[in-house]
Amino acid sequence: MSEAEKSFKVVLLGEGCVGKTSIVLRYIQNTFVDKHVMTQHAGFFQKNINIAGKRVGLTIWDTAGQERFHALGPIYYRGSQGAIVVYDITDADSYTKAKNWIKELKAMLGNDIVLCLIGNKCDLEKSRVITLEESEAYAASVGAKHYGTSAKLNKGVEELFLDLTKRMLTKS
Ligand code: GDP
Ligand code: MG
Repeated sequence: MSEAEKSFKVVLLGEGCVGKTSIVLRYIQNTFVDKHVMTQHAGFFQKNINIAGKRVGLTIWDTAGQERFHALGPIYYRGSQGAIVVYDITDADSYTKAKNWIKELKAMLGNDIVLCLIGNKCDLEKSRVITLEESEAYAASVGAKHYGTSAKLNKGVEELFLDLTKRMLTKS
């Protein structure tokens, strides 16, 4: 494929087990692993997409599980144009953690970064503890946008990356 006209760095953030790796694997490979402990993947994934007549290269950074040891910081998200901050809709703590990440990103990068707040595992609707109203209102209040996804059922994942890329193009 020819050289992308634009390229963006996108980071995945959020507590362990919320589904970050599952979301990126669904997007890049269209696969899903229904196991609690997944193989750790190395650093980042790349994908080129055509959007609005432009070739765009995305470099998507996934963690190698460092979030479990509170060992993710500016070195990971520095230089990124987009952030995908994920929580699990059945886990209130993961939502609090996601909001903390958004605060940190805003404090460190200001308005230079396009923020996405993701409620993942939407297939587990019956166990939902965070309402859509709450999370959408919070996202809007901090200049982020909320998306619901299910990496398991392939819901909302493609739309998330497409919309994020459009928002980054608008900003660049
Ligand atoms: P990470 O630690 O944030 O990267 O999370 P993983 O992608 O490793 O996923 C953690 C666990 O959640 C795994 O057992 C996945 O199979 C599961 N999982 C991920 N996404 C979904 C989803 O959309 N729905 C359901 N039900 N489980 C999911
Ligand atoms: Mg992971």
